[in-house]
Amino acid sequence: MNQEKTFYDNLVECLKHQQKKSSRTVVDSEVLKVFFSTSTKLKNTKAAPHITKATSSPSSTVTEHRITPINPPEFGHKQTPESCPIEELSLDELRIMAVNCRRCGLCDNRNNVVFGEGDPHAKLMFIGEGPGADEDAQGRPFVGAAGQLLTRMISAMQYRREEVYITNIVKCRPPGNRTPVPSEANSCMPYLRRQIELINPKVIVLLGGTPLLHILNLTGITRRRGQWGEYNKIPVMPTFHPSYVLRFQNTVNERNIKSLVWSDLKTVMQFLGKPVA
Ligand code: SF4
Repeated sequence: MNQEKTFYDNLVECLKHQQKKSSRTVVDSEVLKVFFSTSTKLKNTKAAPHITKATSSPSSTVTEHRITPINPPEFGHKQTPESCPIEELSLDELRIMAVNCRRCGLCDNRNNVVFGEGDPHAKLMFIGEGPGADEDAQGRPFVGAAGQLLTRMISAMQYRREEVYITNIVKCRPPGNRTPVPSEANSCMPYLRRQIELINPKVIVLLGGTPLLHILNLTGITRRRGQWGEYNKIPVMPTFHPSYVLRFQNTVNERNIKSLVWSDLKTVMQFLGKPVA
């Protein structure tokens, strides 16, 4: 029931988005294809919903739009949605696509797709590994203990959490918080690539070894942290994942690990022109 609500909510969002773009409640046919091809939740539905009339407003053209009932195709997670023009989607449309995604096996056990959140024009973007239990439950990235630490790190950098953009390599929780396997990460990367392209941040901070591998194609976060890399001409700073930092809490190494992360973040602050004490 909730999934159906999400589907219809998404359709309304999509209509609103298209209306903003063109003053008409027209949904691009490709978007509709994405919509119906990626929704398996309606596969037992005999007829998909139809919209009979666009809302009239002084600035909009009244248009009769009937979406022909479509039986959504079976869409197993081994298939690639060829009909999805990811490189043409807006952030809202991309979110809709991700919410209905079944491109890898991680869709089987998820409660929520954790797409990412923050300022769509953020200068600073953080990329982690994947959602944990709290994130899966809430549908938001970095909301558990590691997320609270990340929020403190962002504040220390003199940003508010809403001013940056936060997302992960995979949008669905790997069971038991394991590292996503390469096929899962590869299936999900088109979403992240498009997010980066649309947000176009000035700096990306990679949190841990998994984003280091999938964004910079490098291994060894301990060796690589603190050294600038580049992704599509965007400077990239790898550092430790907040959950790694938390592992050292109340140990003799806590201070050392924190100071390494802080040193990496200060380098980013300097680059962004923030005053560093
Ligand atoms: S992890 Fe990514 S590719 Fe896999 S089902 Fe979720 S959104 Fe789709």
